[in-house]
Amino acid sequence: MVRITQSYTFSDSPYFNDRGVHGHAQPITERVNPHSTPIVSYYFPKGVGEHHYGQYHPMKPHRLTLTNALVMGYGLDKKIHNIYNPPLASRAELEAYHDQEYIDFLSRVTPQNQTEMKHLIDSFNCTEDCPIFADMFTFCRMSAGGSLAAARKLCARTTDIAINWSGGLHHAKRGEASGFCYVNDIVLGILELLRYFPRVLYIDIDIHHGDGVEHAFYHTNRVMTVSFHKYTGDFFPGTGKLEDNGAGVGKHFCLNVPLQDGITDDMYTTLFKHVIENVCQRFQPSAIVMQCGADSLGLDRLGAFNLSIAAHGECVNFVRMQKVPLMVVGGGGYTVKNVSRCWTYETSVLVGQQLPDELPATVYDSWFRDSQWKLHPPLTGRVQNQNTAASLQRIMRAVDQKLRYLESAPSIQMNELPPNLEKWLAEELKDELMDTREDRSMAQKMELFEQRGVPQVADVQEAVDVGEAEVGEEGLRQLQ
Ligand SMILES: [Zn+2]
Repeated sequence: MVRITQSYTFSDSPYFNDRGVHGHAQPITERVNPHSTPIVSYYFPKGVGEHHYGQYHPMKPHRLTLTNALVMGYGLDKKIHNIYNPPLASRAELEAYHDQEYIDFLSRVTPQNQTEMKHLIDSFNCTEDCPIFADMFTFCRMSAGGSLAAARKLCARTTDIAINWSGGLHHAKRGEASGFCYVNDIVLGILELLRYFPRVLYIDIDIHHGDGVEHAFYHTNRVMTVSFHKYTGDFFPGTGKLEDNGAGVGKHFCLNVPLQDGITDDMYTTLFKHVIENVCQRFQPSAIVMQCGADSLGLDRLGAFNLSIAAHGECVNFVRMQKVPLMVVGGGGYTVKNVSRCWTYETSVLVGQQLPDELPATVYDSWFRDSQWKLHPPLTGRVQNQNTAASLQRIMRAVDQKLRYLESAPSIQMNELPPNLEKWLAEELKDELMDTREDRSMAQKMELFEQRGVPQVADVQEAVDVGEAEVGEEGLRQLQ
């Protein structure tokens, strides 16, 4: 088959103009006012897509490489304000949540020594779903490093949106692996956000329940977790029923939206917007973390929903429009070509850029041949819809009822300054020093430093030397 380049745009595609009749989502066509364009930072740990869980394992980190290729192919790197190759998370950073013994195990176990470590492998649940693979610990540190750097950038208030598609590993527990996840980068990221932001809302649209994150914050009212997922009782991980709402002071600060197979675009987006709008009104989050697991798309290898990429992206757009500092991470997604399309589209949504439906030519063209190199192939209709209008209304009523119990925006004072605030401030200054978009004079910059009472230039330079490597607009190409 020969690829013929066509020039029509996403919004011209007939597939996306038929919502209502067939329940497909509409393209997002809003014009973004340039004066209100949010600052977007993108975290891509170099080499993260080269890891392999194993030939037959459904989790393919290669989807991250494909995503990056499409993001660049579309030229979105020109629209993203900052692109970073974040530093690996340190052991101490991982131990901010995880047990020391577990991290010690992850740092030592290899495919070569796994036989002699069998007893530990079993006790930390690194079997079947969570195999031991080469450079596994580095993979975990990359994913977590991305979410930590994203969280810190948000805390420093030098970005409005921070994207880490290599993050989103929501099943990992404090002391064990679960569901393809070893280190919970989301929990680590939220812990970092809590140093600065009083209330963090976590939203999870992966088809699986966000159990690891829910569990970590089940007893607190500073983090509200909201998970939309398939729930049958025996579908992995088996948790996330409507009645689970948090405990102790965290009671009512956890919300589960259990769904059945085959949910359509219209049903999902209607429910999502209703729930998230009400949650935002009641909880008034000061920051939001959104897990965009793409296994909720139709035709996913492990999933059973009927969502289009446009509807998945519509949820992301709805959260973006809340205009709250936002961290966006990946998650599940096992039909690799569709995961990369989805996260590319969502990157475009977050930077406010419309994309043509024709995929850009990349070295990965063969992955997209069977769907004629379209960004939005038809994904819906494979699975019979087991949800009904009545079942969704029941969920909505229950959610509304639960939200009435929510104290309106608990006032939490921040009494403590985070211990590494200085480092963040130094990073912020580094960014401003390196910022060539705004032609600030050095005198103006020094004035800025003095106003903020932060380290001298020598200290800043030290932070630049040891800190996060900025990749720059063109640099993402070199990360492939
Ligand atoms: Zn999943």
